[in-house]
Amino acid sequence: MAMKVLLTDLAWDQLTSWVESLGEPAYRAGQLFGWIYRSLVDDFNAMTNLPVSWRQQLADLGMIRSLRPLDTVVSDNGLTSKTLFELRDGQTIETVLMRYEGRRTVCISSQVGCAIGCPFCATGQSGFTRNLSTGEIVDQVLYFARQLKGEDLSVTNVVLMGMGEPLANHDAMWGAIEILNDRRGFGLGSRRFTVSTAGLVPGILRLAQERLSVGLAVSLHAADNALRDRLVPVNRRYPLSDLITACHQYAAHTGRRVTFEYALINEINDSPSQAEDLGQLLQGELCHVNLIPLNPTEECEYQPSSRARVLSFRRVLNRMAVPNTLRLERGMDIKAGCGQLRSRRRSGE
Ligand code: SAH
Ligand code: SF4
Repeated sequence: MAMKVLLTDLAWDQLTSWVESLGEPAYRAGQLFGWIYRSLVDDFNAMTNLPVSWRQQLADLGMIRSLRPLDTVVSDNGLTSKTLFELRDGQTIETVLMRYEGRRTVCISSQVGCAIGCPFCATGQSGFTRNLSTGEIVDQVLYFARQLKGEDLSVTNVVLMGMGEPLANHDAMWGAIEILNDRRGFGLGSRRFTVSTAGLVPGILRLAQERLSVGLAVSLHAADNALRDRLVPVNRRYPLSDLITACHQYAAHTGRRVTFEYALINEINDSPSQAEDLGQLLQGELCHVNLIPLNPTEECEYQPSSRARVLSFRRVLNRMAVPNTLRLERGMDIKAGCGQLRSRRRSGE
């Protein structure tokens, strides 16, 4: 039997063609889209304005959920929860929901594993398995949207900061953003999305040209090439000067400030002179620096910076007038860091 069509892989027009190919009128696609993205229904039988016989045909040929939750861990008094999902082929990914005052952010994965191999990252250490499809990316958001709906709440932000490098899976990732942005359905505004990249320069330039302008976060972690070559190995292909130029173009083109992520690793990238280098590198850029104490992983001996080193690093940035925040580390106790739940399960812990 042919594999069922995952309906969340399809944008409005594609869903319409699919519906028509089944001999149904185009307006039925609109009804389906509404059920999936507005009513957040995941069962064809609940689609009560569709004829019963067509609902049966839909269930035979299509599916709405590609993810099966295997495990959920909760921390921060219930404010952060992380779910491990099994995909249709048995692979697993993680998604995190973070609740803040007035905001609910879903941190989603774009790939199973990651080929870039940053040494401090649990996902990077597990290697690359495959790209996610558009629907597998969309479904992560819908899963939490359904959960929140039960509390009369909704997803307010989506960040592509889970497993994988979103710009190495550009088409599927962008397809998911377009679907979730579509006002006829989920309708999440483009400003509510943030794409985080290790610094794939051609991908950043392509993102700048897209129809919608989304937030861009760049995982910098070092302000000199020698260190960044080690921490974020894709730097060997796209060194800092090219990366900063691309970020500059992104900010100029979209009018949006770029976020630079900087994981503070004890005695590796957190000295006052390294803070100076960072300040110099970003001088005059429309940007914001997010400082995050490293979330230690089992595969790597790096440790988070001591509090004193964090404070002196920040002091330098403040003196150089580089806008920055020290990010409240969420979910340390549940290993909410990228890829950590998955690697724990794989190692049978
Ligand atoms: N591949 C993309 C997006 C996923 S990683 C990227 O690298 O940007 C999301 C963020 O988590 C990145 O900023 C990454 O550097 C950071 N990260 C990964 N492992 C971490 C760890 N152990 N501690 C702190 N931040 C980590
Ligand atoms: Fe990949 Fe991002 Fe992890 Fe680096 S930090 S290995 S780019 S997921």
